[in-house]
Amino acid sequence: MQPLIPHMVPLQGTREKLQPTGVGGDLADARRNADGINALGHYLGADFVGICRREPWMGCSHDEVEGKPIPVYHDYAVVMLIDQGFETMEGGSGDDWISALQSMRACLRGAEIDGLMAAHCRRMGYSARAHSNAHSEVIHNPWVLMAGLGEASRIGDAILHPFIGPRSKSVVVTSDLPLAVDRPIDFNLQEFCERCRKCARECACNAITFGPKVMFNGYEIWKAEVEKCTRYRVTNMKGSACGRCMKR
Ligand code: SF4
Ligand code: SF4
Repeated sequence: MQPLIPHMVPLQGTREKLQPTGVGGDLADARRNADGINALGHYLGADFVGICRREPWMGCSHDEVEGKPIPVYHDYAVVMLIDQGFETMEGGSGDDWISALQSMRACLRGAEIDGLMAAHCRRMGYSARAHSNAHSEVIHNPWVLMAGLGEASRIGDAILHPFIGPRSKSVVVTSDLPLAVDRPIDFNLQEFCERCRKCARECACNAITFGPKVMFNGYEIWKAEVEKCTRYRVTNMKGSACGRCMKR
């Protein structure tokens, strides 16, 4: 599955402004546009859809291929979560051969939906770019948070959705299409994670902290030891990658 995703990169779209085509009628009503985009996301197969406004700090600073600075572009983003699948997750240990496979299945599905959503926005005359897990120009986590699709958690870099926890892959479409935005949510996860610690107990290599949040890079978070996690994921000889914290 993995090699197929980069093949969709040439279809991801553009930063350049386009001329509204008139297709889709009057698109000045941001609420109506958001309702249509939400419906399209669900129709295409996204499990959860949220919309947020772009802040300057939410994008990558430089292009990953050429190293050139990336300007701040597009005012809005559609954020979609793809469920990796409860049944599949129940059938695996979290760090067996199913782990990376179910992850890439969601990434592939997300890239397809993402590309179609961006193409739809462009067809209506609005600049739009898809950001899948290949050649994305945005860091997904803040977008998922700001679009109201989850809260930060003890796992560290994972944003947990109230219904499916961390069992998702995210994709983002940035666009100039005027959209009514959603708001961040609070389902009491900060307090719950303070007491729970189950993911820390189940982590295969003690990468998740049992301790309190810390200040890191200007943010108050539970800081996972990403080097330990990465080392385990890339050297796991009895499976492919790891998602034990997600399964638990
Ligand atoms: S397992 Fe418990 S501590 Fe870990 S992210 Fe989930 S709720 Fe928070
Ligand atoms: S992916 Fe595996 S190694 Fe990494 S934090 Fe989760 S359980 Fe630990």
